[in-house]
Amino acid sequence: MIDKPILFNMTNTELEQFVVSIGQPKFRAKQISEWLSRGAPDFSVMKNLPEILRNDLDKVARTMPCTIIKKLESTDNQTTKFLLEMLDGEQIESVLMRTSYGNSVCVSSQAGCAMGCKFCASTLLGLKRNLSINEMFAQVLVAQWELRGDKDKKNIKPNGDPKNSDVSHIVVMGTGEPLQNTENLIGFLERANNDLGIGWRRITVSTCGIVPGIKELNAWGYPINLAISLHAPNDELRSKLMPVNNKYKISDVLDASFEFVTKNNRQLMIEYILLAGTNDSIENAEELSKLLTSKNCMVNLIPWNTVDEREFISPSGNAVHRFQDILIKNGIHTRIRRERGQDIGSACGQLRLNNKKD
Ligand code: SAH
Repeated sequence: MIDKPILFNMTNTELEQFVVSIGQPKFRAKQISEWLSRGAPDFSVMKNLPEILRNDLDKVARTMPCTIIKKLESTDNQTTKFLLEMLDGEQIESVLMRTSYGNSVCVSSQAGCAMGCKFCASTLLGLKRNLSINEMFAQVLVAQWELRGDKDKKNIKPNGDPKNSDVSHIVVMGTGEPLQNTENLIGFLERANNDLGIGWRRITVSTCGIVPGIKELNAWGYPINLAISLHAPNDELRSKLMPVNNKYKISDVLDASFEFVTKNNRQLMIEYILLAGTNDSIENAEELSKLLTSKNCMVNLIPWNTVDEREFISPSGNAVHRFQDILIKNGIHTRIRRERGQDIGSACGQLRLNNKKD
């Protein structure tokens, strides 16, 4: 239940009005806002506010639009998964990945998912609702706070963090279909760019291929990276795996996507999950090559991550390399995605409300 105002959701003016309304001088708004922009989970950490004020604030307001229910660390020491609860009780997941090129956050765009892809865990319980701009942005700030480390969190000043403890990349590849929530997605990306300075080229949005949504992104016009979850080289097979293909055919999805990346001078990312015996044959690789020949794209091969409720089989390492070799022989730029956090259920397609499993 939303019982108290959420300061994170307020504009600077609203925050000022709020602090004045509780009898505080205006400058407190600036102090609080600095902490909020660092992802402070509650008022107790705001050490440059008097203790009495921190306690009072705690009684009348909330910082974030979500609380961390659980935090799981992968044994790779680089991946942290957060289970977050929104104020209406919906739970979502986000993942922080520390990489050699920076710190990336995998953001969920919806609670649940309506798309029904046959291989994915995120859609098993259906769609609950779209996430708001603030709820998406909060996922980035939760990761931002985490990055500063426990020692740093006790530090009094919210400023002056070393650059390498900032979130530098955003991938909208968590639960949900971002282009079914395009308006909030765009608002979120603009806020991440504006407030955190995350460059457009460090942002990637992955879609199962909602053509009108891709066109909307095109009309919006900022040069983010686009990833298409293709997963099959022809409509017949794709429709079996992904119900969305009954509505938007491969050729229409690719036309809209290449239009987007050409305009923005980017390379299209094609995601292709390998499902043993389903879409990983030599013929599939040849057919995919034909589809993508001389197109400005990069294929990201994703060996399927096991989902208990789904009856697919993960491909062997040999099958993955065989598929990649054929694409490369045909001149298609191809990489195998390095999976992170499989042990904590945060690898691709594993994000879900897993309270049953715990
Ligand atoms: N709805 C968007 C955003 C989700 S992105 C989309 O479809 O692109 C999540 C990525 O992980 C997608 O490419 C998705 O197809 C893939 N994925 C889903 N289930 C998976 C699984 N079990 N193993 C590996 N990848 C999976």
